[in-house]
Amino acid sequence: MIIILKDNPEEKQLDNLISWLKSMNLDIHFSKGESTTILGLIGDTSAVDMDLINALDIVETVKQVQEPYKNVNRKFHPKDTVIDICGTKVGSGNFQVIAGPCSVESREQVFEIAQGVKKAGAHFLRGGAFKPRTSPYAFQGMRAEGIELLLEAKKEFGLPIVTEVMDLSQLPLFEEVDVIQVGARNMQNFELLKEVGRLDKPVLLKRGLANTLKELLMSAEYIMAGGNEKVILCERGIRTFETATRNTLDLAAIPLLKTKTHLPIVVDPSHATGIAHLVKPMAIAAAAAGADGLMIEVHNDPPHALCDGAQSLTPEAFADVMDAVNAVLPHAYKG
Ligand code: PEP
Ligand code: MN
Repeated sequence: MIIILKDNPEEKQLDNLISWLKSMNLDIHFSKGESTTILGLIGDTSAVDMDLINALDIVETVKQVQEPYKNVNRKFHPKDTVIDICGTKVGSGNFQVIAGPCSVESREQVFEIAQGVKKAGAHFLRGGAFKPRTSPYAFQGMRAEGIELLLEAKKEFGLPIVTEVMDLSQLPLFEEVDVIQVGARNMQNFELLKEVGRLDKPVLLKRGLANTLKELLMSAEYIMAGGNEKVILCERGIRTFETATRNTLDLAAIPLLKTKTHLPIVVDPSHATGIAHLVKPMAIAAAAAGADGLMIEVHNDPPHALCDGAQSLTPEAFADVMDAVNAVLPHAYKG
């Protein structure tokens, strides 16, 4: 439920209203714009008498908000969120590209790729140190050593790093990581979401394989409810009956999410398709549909990659995608 107040509400009446609402175990999200003040009621509003509130002098209108998410809701935060990461802004027209290998495999590998993607114009370096693999016998990532190598690459090439945390116990290793990725398989790991919600660090939250947009937003709400406002959403394809591609890229999610939330949305065409030659057209399409950025897997030797070689681009192919995306960006859909 949201309460829109009249201009310049009388302070005493406002205090009374707020303490009355708090006495009903509600938290208040206070949002003061240039001309409007809005109170967002967080908690169970089923016992709140809307007519009674509507009748108050200082109240313009009361609205029942259907969506159960408040912090991520554009209704309470009409302006796009812009997240500053080491001086690079993401969101609201600041389009950024995260690129790098699926997994960190060696110093040589990550350095060569970092150099290539930087040259092509990437803004962030990605690389998995902890890898969620379907098979327990597949390469599980270099773990702590992988994070060390990413940090060394950051020092050498100056690109902020994005890497995935799979479990709460790993978080101490992420202190110097610039963006913590919560992967698709962990989108509803609520304890992990709560813990990253207590950090003052950007979180890239990927959509689960079989999760709705509402569930994605509720997971983002978990992070924001803990006080961490630096959440970036990532559409990475969902599982459908189609088997020709690894997942089905839900491009409509971009403009739809934009109406529901103020958070930046990036698209991962690599995991969404699983096929290297589809990455370029889907990257162009995502940029054209209004995404705030892309996450693309790049490998210096895709046929020999330890993970996701089939969807990985060479640094040269990645540079070609960057050119195509940059050409389309000035014409992107803005809503
Ligand atoms: C990844 O980005 O490395 C990854 C594992 O992606 P997802 O969680 O989307 O499958
Ligand atoms: Mn991958």
